[in-house]
Amino acid sequence: MKLVIVGGVAGGASAAARARRLSEDAEIVVIERGPDVSFANCGLPYHVGNVIPDREKLLVTTPGRLRERFGLDVRTMSEVEAIDRQRKVVRVRDIATGRVYDEGYDKLILAPGAAPVRPPIPGIDLPNVFTLRTLTDADRIKAAVDAGVREAVIVGAGFIGLEVAENLVHRGVATTVVQLDRQIRTPFDAEMTTPLAACLRENGVRLVFRDTAEGIRATPGGMEVQLRSGAVLPAQLVVVGVGVRPENRLAVEAGLETGRAAGCGWTTGCGLLTPTSSRSATRSRRRTP
Ligand SMILES: Cc1cc2nc3c(=O)[nH]c(=O)nc-3n(C[C@H](O)[C@H](O)[C@H](O)COP(=O)(O)OP(=O)(O)OC[C@H]3O[C@@H](n4cnc5c(N)ncnc54)[C@H](O)[C@@H]3O)c2cc1C
Repeated sequence: MKLVIVGGVAGGASAAARARRLSEDAEIVVIERGPDVSFANCGLPYHVGNVIPDREKLLVTTPGRLRERFGLDVRTMSEVEAIDRQRKVVRVRDIATGRVYDEGYDKLILAPGAAPVRPPIPGIDLPNVFTLRTLTDADRIKAAVDAGVREAVIVGAGFIGLEVAENLVHRGVATTVVQLDRQIRTPFDAEMTTPLAACLRENGVRLVFRDTAEGIRATPGGMEVQLRSGAVLPAQLVVVGVGVRPENRLAVEAGLETGRAAGCGWTTGCGLLTPTSSRSATRSRRRTP
């Protein structure tokens, strides 16, 4: 049995470890696009905030340890570009060398996760505008804060946006969270989010509701975030946390059945894109101000 797993973080690494427990003889190959496997995404905002100062603590395990302990063939910086289901091979690109090769499989597990939505607004590609998914993202945000950011704007009051806000104020950065909805954490009832919003304010986070970022401009002092309302917020750091989109291109192109979220622009509910489901529309109507 040869098992190939695409993605080496929570889903991929635990599938690989479980597969090894089920079979000592199987050949198990884990292919991961990034430099890290099995890291603690949940700790990333707290590393930015110096609450978890030691970066090593975010590494649940390393490719080396997975090789030694579980006998896994872990290939980081390697991207699966396509699946050929007839031939049972994946096409892999070694990102460092550019070499492209086919890897055969008996069984294939896709664990490619979800990518942060980067809304197509002007200025989204400016150097100090970030999303947060990987250790590398956290390194970059932390480096910006270490370099002396005074003001930050977070777009989206979902879990990631709020955790980043918590950690930026912890670092002494004046932080404004801009949220399209009239409350933080859109899926929650207002009875729960109102005290949470009060707590954020008490701790120095500025909350701007029913507004969104329409563009970001570079200025001599850093950046300006232009809001739909006409307000302009100065910032040296912008973090966009407006939801995620499944990385399901491989699955779709291979003809696998995918769920409703596939490529439809759905977000986890906090930011710039409007959720399209009738369930969320019902929820919005029920919500008290
Ligand atoms: C900042 C942050 C904080 C979070 N906090 C919490 C929390 O407190 N509690 C909680 O429950 N969850 C939290 N989460 C969510 C949790 O981290 C995710 O649910 C979990 O990481 C999903 O694991 P996954 O393996 O499915 O996907 P991912 O972690 O996204 O991993 C998928 C991997 O697949 C790789 N990949 C994708 N396509 C390819 C390809 N074609 N070839 C090779 N590799 C590929 C990607 O590079 C990626 O590393 C947080 C997430 C973030 C970003």
